[in-house]
Amino acid sequence: NAFFKPIHNSDPPLPSNRCTKVSVVGVGNVGMAIAQTILTQDLADELALVDSKPDKLRGEMLDLQHAAAFLPRTKISASVDYSVTAGSDLCIVTAGARQNPGESRLNLLQRNVALFRHIIPPLAKASPDSILIIVSNPVDVLTYVAWKLSGFPVNRVLGSGTNLDSSRFRFLIADHLDVNAQDVQAFIVGEHGDSSVALWSSISVGGIPVLSFLEKNQIAYEKQTLEDIHQSVVGSAYEVIGLKGYTSWAIGYSVANLARSIIRDQRKIHPVTVLARGFYGVDGGDVFLSLPALLGRNGVVAVTNVHMTDEEAEKLQKSAKTILEMQSQLGL
Ligand code: NAD
Repeated sequence: NAFFKPIHNSDPPLPSNRCTKVSVVGVGNVGMAIAQTILTQDLADELALVDSKPDKLRGEMLDLQHAAAFLPRTKISASVDYSVTAGSDLCIVTAGARQNPGESRLNLLQRNVALFRHIIPPLAKASPDSILIIVSNPVDVLTYVAWKLSGFPVNRVLGSGTNLDSSRFRFLIADHLDVNAQDVQAFIVGEHGDSSVALWSSISVGGIPVLSFLEKNQIAYEKQTLEDIHQSVVGSAYEVIGLKGYTSWAIGYSVANLARSIIRDQRKIHPVTVLARGFYGVDGGDVFLSLPALLGRNGVVAVTNVHMTDEEAEKLQKSAKTILEMQSQLGL
C-alpha cells in the first residue's frame, strides 16, 4: 500500500502455523462471554465465530472488531459457513436450543443432538487436528455426542463440565473465610449440575487441608457450613438464570481458563468432562462426566488419581448410571 515503503527483507515469510486459532460456535450470551474473555486475555491470533443467525453473527463480529484499538491484535472473522473455522487449534461449542416451558430434559437433549449433527461433522472436517470443548447443556451427554460425531480421539474432546461448579465452590469458600479464591483448592466432580459430587477431602486453603483441620479442632459447625456451601453451588446457576435470564461471565472466564491451559500447554488440573470409563469404579459404558484432568496442548493428558471416599465414588457411579440411561435413548 501507499502508506508504507517495505524495507528489504530476504527472510522467507513466517510459517502460518505460528498463529493460534480459536473458533466459537454459537454467539449467544455464553459464546460471546467466552469470545471476549479470550480476546482480552490475548489467547488467540485468530478468532472465528459461527452461528446460524447471520445478522446476529455479523453484529457481534463488528462489535468486537470495533474494540480493536483497545485489544491485542487478533483477526476476527465470522460466517454461517464452517469453512471460516478451518485450521483451528481449539473449537468451543456453545450452540444450543433453550428449554421450552414444560419441555422434558430428554426432549431438549434430543433437539440438541439434532443440532450437533449439523455442527460437529463440518467443524471436525474443517479442523481435523483441533481440540473440542463442549459447553452446551446437558454438557456431559453432549460431550459424548460430540466425541461420537467427530470421530476424534478421546483426548481431544472434553466438556467444560464442573470447572464452573468448582469455581463457584471456591468463591463461596473464599468468601466465607475472607481469603483469595485462588488460594482455595476444591473440586466438584461428576455430573455438571444437580447431582454433582463435592470432594471434601480435596478442600485446602493455602495448603491446609480444611476437613482434617476442622476435625482435629472439633469445629463441627464449619462442616455443616461447607455442606450448605455445596448446596448453594448446586442452586447457583438456577439463581443467576432466575435473576438475569442466563449465565455468562463466570462461564466465559472458566472456559477461557481451559483454553489457556490447552493452547499454552499449561498442564494445569481442571475438573472437566472426560471419558470416565474405568476411573473410580465407573463402568457399564462410554460415559462422560467431570473428573480432575491434566490439560495441555494435546487436550486431556491424564486423569488425576485423587482420594475419593467410598461414598463419593458411589455418588459418582450413580451419576454415571443416570447419564448412561439418557445416552442409551439417543440411538448413537
Ligand atoms: P443463547 O440462546 O444465548 O445462545 C445460543 C446460540 O446458539 C444462539 O446464538 C443460536 O443462534 C445459536 N445456535 C442455535 N442453533 C445453532 C446451530 N445449528 N448452529 C450454530 N449456532 C446455533 O444461549 P446461551 O445462554 O449462550 O447458552 C448456550 C448453551 O450453553 C446452553 O446450552 C446453556 O445451557 C449452556 N451453558 C453451559 C454452561 C456450562 O457450565 N456447561 C454454563 C452456561 C450455559
